[in-house]
Amino acid sequence: MASTKDIYLVIGGSGFVGRHIVEQLLRRGDNVSVFDIVQRYHDVPFYSGDISDQEQVSTALRRSGTTCIIHTASPPAGLNDPALYWKVNVDGTKAIIAAAVQNKVRKLVFTSSAGVVFNGNSLSNVDERLAPPERPMDAYNESKQKAEEAVITANGKDGLLTVALRPAGIFGPGDRQVMAGLYKVYEDGKTHFQIGNNNNLFDWTYVENIAHAHLLAADKLDTAPPAHPFSTLENIPLEAPP
Ligand code: NAD
Repeated sequence: MASTKDIYLVIGGSGFVGRHIVEQLLRRGDNVSVFDIVQRYHDVPFYSGDISDQEQVSTALRRSGTTCIIHTASPPAGLNDPALYWKVNVDGTKAIIAAAVQNKVRKLVFTSSAGVVFNGNSLSNVDERLAPPERPMDAYNESKQKAEEAVITANGKDGLLTVALRPAGIFGPGDRQVMAGLYKVYEDGKTHFQIGNNNNLFDWTYVENIAHAHLLAADKLDTAPPAHPFSTLENIPLEAPP
């Protein structure tokens, strides 16, 4: 648990993942507000605004007394609108970082995406050390990668602690994208097409586990990171000294 009780602002808190984060924070008795361009729920303080407007984010941070931002906002994947992805994900995330520093916010948890390292080929047993591909898969993934880079680079800036999580596919109650897309394939009678040899695998995680991971990440930012396990391994001599 966090050593001091944080005050949370869930940016994108009207969305699928954001709403589950809000519900879990409420269940454990935390103080939480939402910042979003649309309001879908009325049980927590709501700040209407666009993350690409630093002043709107800053006002919400100041009024809510936020100490921990959980940033889940993004346009949905699959739009043919690179400019929108850049404006919201890259410029918007930078505006959030600037507003956080301006308001002396302590923590920023960012929902990135596994797509930031996807290059179109199978990826097995990879971890955060895998570099992004030279050519991003699409504008959405490129913008998520640039946003993630900005969040990680901001770690330690004027006392701000940051972390980025990379979920792959997310399923569960409240989803408006994945199941709707699968159902449309069924409705359009396209289920008899098969791409590949039917051995294609994809990672899926239940939305409540994704939300829980955000809470754990926020709590963990309070503690100093342990020594990197791989650097420790490198220091172990391959053969025991005589
Ligand atoms: P969602 O569309 O349900 O929620 C996103 C929320 O962000 C919405 O409420 C939307 O109104 C808000 N938003 C969009 N633009 C905004 C702006 N300019 N200013 C303020 N708010 C804005 O999406 P989701 O499925 O909950 O995804 C949440 C996060 O998880 C996103 O960052 C997404 O990239 C990431 N992600 C999602 C999946 C998935 O399978 N759903 C997988 C990997 C990563």
